[in-house]
Amino acid sequence: MGGPTSGRWAGWGRATCDARPRLDVRAVVREARREPARSFAAVTCSGRSTVLARIPARLDLDARVLVLDYESFGACVEVRVSLDVTSPHFGGVRWWARCPGCRARVAFLYLDLDLARVECRTCAGLAYASTRECPLFRALRRARKLEERLARRSWGSTRARLVARVEAAYEAMGGMLGAG
Ligand SMILES: [Zn+2]
Repeated sequence: MGGPTSGRWAGWGRATCDARPRLDVRAVVREARREPARSFAAVTCSGRSTVLARIPARLDLDARVLVLDYESFGACVEVRVSLDVTSPHFGGVRWWARCPGCRARVAFLYLDLDLARVECRTCAGLAYASTRECPLFRALRRARKLEERLARRSWGSTRARLVARVEAAYEAMGGMLGAG
């Protein structure tokens, strides 16, 4: 995870409905095929490669089921996702997830507000009221804001306090998904 001085968060803009924690199904399956019984699914945000958290994942290739097994705000969560595979013309295989809500075949699954469910973009869009914001994204924005303040402070006790607060904010993000 990016540290307070990594500068990797510099590209973050304002929060939009588009910038939402999500799983890239292909990346998750690719990773999980190496170690099906004990893998990790990277949670990123739309259009960004920064990893917000890594949540434990298990892959059952025969049943074509991906099981995400993690903690969300202290509660144990088990999410089962059905997978689909297609064969593109140019060869190889392509993995998809079935949205647990509407069964649509999708390449990305978005985390719900309580971080205890995953759903497709359409289902996620319906579930989100415009005034509400995902807690993980809110924490990310908080960290980002603190980092901006930190960038303007090159010395002193205020800087030390800011560094501690940025670190705490990042820790909170991992903690939300029990991945800290
Ligand atoms: Zn859906």
